[in-house]
Amino acid sequence: MDYSTYFKNYPSADGRFGRFGGAYLPEHLVAAMEEINNAYLTICQSSQFVNELRRIRREFQGRPTPVYHCEKLSRKIGDGRCQIYLKREDLNHTGAHKLNHCMGEGLLAKFMGKKRIIAETGAGQHGVALATAAAFFGLECTIYMGEIDVAKQAPNVARMKVLGTNVVSVSRGQKTLKEAVDAAFEDYLENYKDTIYCIGSAVGPHPFPMMVRDFQMVVGQEAREQFLEMMGFLPDIVTACVGGGSNSIGMFLPFINDPVEIVGVEPMGRGENIGDNAASMTYGEEGVMHGFDSIMLKNADGEPAPVYSIASGLDYPSVGPEHAFLREIGRVKYEVATDREAVDAFFKLSRYEGIIPALESSHAVAYAMRRAKEMGKGSILVNLSGRGDKDLDYVIEKYGYGEEFFKD
Ligand SMILES: *Cc1c(COP(=O)(O)O)cnc(C)c1O
Repeated sequence: MDYSTYFKNYPSADGRFGRFGGAYLPEHLVAAMEEINNAYLTICQSSQFVNELRRIRREFQGRPTPVYHCEKLSRKIGDGRCQIYLKREDLNHTGAHKLNHCMGEGLLAKFMGKKRIIAETGAGQHGVALATAAAFFGLECTIYMGEIDVAKQAPNVARMKVLGTNVVSVSRGQKTLKEAVDAAFEDYLENYKDTIYCIGSAVGPHPFPMMVRDFQMVVGQEAREQFLEMMGFLPDIVTACVGGGSNSIGMFLPFINDPVEIVGVEPMGRGENIGDNAASMTYGEEGVMHGFDSIMLKNADGEPAPVYSIASGLDYPSVGPEHAFLREIGRVKYEVATDREAVDAFFKLSRYEGIIPALESSHAVAYAMRRAKEMGKGSILVNLSGRGDKDLDYVIEKYGYGEEFFKD
């Protein structure tokens, strides 16, 4: 298949990737999204915007992040013929890929003359990235967070506050992410004239899946060029973990027209029953949620199902619409990794390479390790979306220092 016209066709003007995507919105937000879309389409053509974003990526974020060859891990797990490489987004400022789109969204807000950015956050990773962008651009920032998450994620709450962000603890209902989304949405309904609601992944109504994708593509563009320069050829497999799908879409698309196998990895959690995983692509069905059409996990009433995995950043009951499309046209495959496989990868990458990965990213590393064992000669490029310092306390409490993973 020839994908050279892919970016011209997808998304369509109304934000569709095939039948997925779109914008399902209350009437008075239609104009607000159109304003953002029009501004984005104009601004991303402006050399002033593009150059400023380039400068920020270099001087503030520390890009390009390196590609690293995991020689020791590769030797330990397979017969040594398959080699694993990492794109080191854990070395991006703030320790994960999320800042790539938050800086883009912040710069867009600045160019549009908005004075405030808002969002919800669960584990606090998106909140910290957006608070960082707000501090950089001198924008006001409000982050909504469920009361229970505020208590669980004290270090991230502290970071946001030090960065000057107003963290609102939401104490209604279950006091977690869903209520935080509702509260942030209500704020936006009232304040959309001077505020942008910055969505934290390649999800939500058009134009967010497109914008977040475009801002994250820096990851795959750099990685492709770096890998080619290192090796003189392209990897056989490119892989990344999939929550909402931002780090993965950014990694994948620059390889779309290459003879490269592309695989997204979802969390299988503790099993295949509903509520035990967040593998939306594997077990979900088509539906509309949070303003867009995609594949989602539904409960018996057709509502978003409860989700679980060891990596809270992957716990989302749907997936970006472009992923649903890429699977449908057969360009990207979606596989799963369990909690246990992710923790195994977490400990092995730490001990063999001196890199402590985020539990989210560990799912993609686990998949690469599985394939490396099976495939014989070849190379696998993994997007290491973030660093694992945030996960240490939890992992140690549950698995100690991981001795059980080094027995054989
Ligand atoms: C949030 C997060 C993810 C999942 O989000 P995507 O939008 O699917 O990329 C993955 N890795 C890390 C480190 C995260 O913080």
